[in-house]
Amino acid sequence: MDSYIFDLMEAHDYENIYFCQEQTLGLKAIIAIHDTTLGPAAGGIRMWPYASEADAIKDALRLARGMTYKCAAAGVSYGGGKCVLIGDPKRDKTEAKLRALGRFIHRLNGLFLTGVDVGTTPEDMLVMRMETPYVVTVPEAWGGPGDSSQVTAFGVVQGMRACLQEVYGSAELQGRTLALQGVGAVGKPALKYLVEAGALVTLADIDQQKATLAAAEYNAQVVHPEEIHHLKVDVYCPCALGNVLNDQTIPQLRCKIVCGSANNQLGEERHGDLLHQLGILYAPDYIVNAGGLLSNLDSLNPGGFNRERAMEKVSHLYDAMENVIAISKEQHIPTYRAADVMAEQRIAAVGQAKRLAITGQMSNSP
Ligand code: NAD
Repeated sequence: MDSYIFDLMEAHDYENIYFCQEQTLGLKAIIAIHDTTLGPAAGGIRMWPYASEADAIKDALRLARGMTYKCAAAGVSYGGGKCVLIGDPKRDKTEAKLRALGRFIHRLNGLFLTGVDVGTTPEDMLVMRMETPYVVTVPEAWGGPGDSSQVTAFGVVQGMRACLQEVYGSAELQGRTLALQGVGAVGKPALKYLVEAGALVTLADIDQQKATLAAAEYNAQVVHPEEIHHLKVDVYCPCALGNVLNDQTIPQLRCKIVCGSANNQLGEERHGDLLHQLGILYAPDYIVNAGGLLSNLDSLNPGGFNRERAMEKVSHLYDAMENVIAISKEQHIPTYRAADVMAEQRIAAVGQAKRLAITGQMSNSP
């Protein structure tokens, strides 16, 4: 039998793919559910003008699997999923289309919980909320967490403190030197946390005005964006783009730690191996940037979002990073791999406990 989609699904043991279409509205969306061992699948809605259906399917699958690992490592009772909505977010987004997608998500009856991702906004989520409560990233006034960038920044700083403890024997930021790449939604509040804790920050942003203003506000130094990654500092903190750790940049690094919010920092996995060989401690992006996720999921608690509780949970990203370091040392593996091992161990343990519980129920039944 010829098989394409099932081959893709079998490669990483995906549970489901849902295809959603409404011809009159031009709605074409794919919801991929990777693994629900820990709980319902959580993941955002990405709207993108994919060149082909195959690209959209592959992206949904890749991103859903990433969410499984992120949720497992962050210690929440959710699995991994993702929705991709095919189209140009500037041109093709309509209320009718978003609501139709909301109805599809509602039919999944809580198997998939969703929110904002590239190409979608909190306002889009409010539109979808008209059809389903399974949309979680809504503004604070609607019982949601609002903009989670600040919480993400707080989480990155917690992960960074665990790295500092490992490398320098103290988690204190006081007097530590930092190179901050990007002062956007996450980078700017990260700058505030870092400077207030006594770190000496040099920053860069391709938006020169943003860089100058942020530096003036927080008494930081500014360098050209091309220079930021090769400054001689304790920590390089990428909060802009992905793929910043690659064949060109890694030989130029002069830091002891890389810890930032940017997604997909490693060009390829082998770059994580290279950092390990060079003795540079890399904080896996999905471990330290999980603050936004934790904050979004907090709003699912009865009574809605509670900022204090969410921040408390995010502070445990320190422990998550500490565990990653411990696994890396015990197993002599790079931290990016140790993060995956930590997530896989949790899923395996919970999966086994569930199977035992089912076996127990069956053996107790008359
Ligand atoms: P943003 O667009 O608000 O900020 C990015 C900043 O980086 C901008 O100011 C931009 O001008 C600057 N920039 C772009 N290219 C640059 C370069 N080459 N050198 C220096 N500066 C550059 O984005 P954000 O929400 O702050 O997210 C930053 C990163 O963190 C992204 O990779 C994002 O995926 C990731 N992330 C964000 C969140 C969140 O809660 N916002 C959560 C998890 C991960």
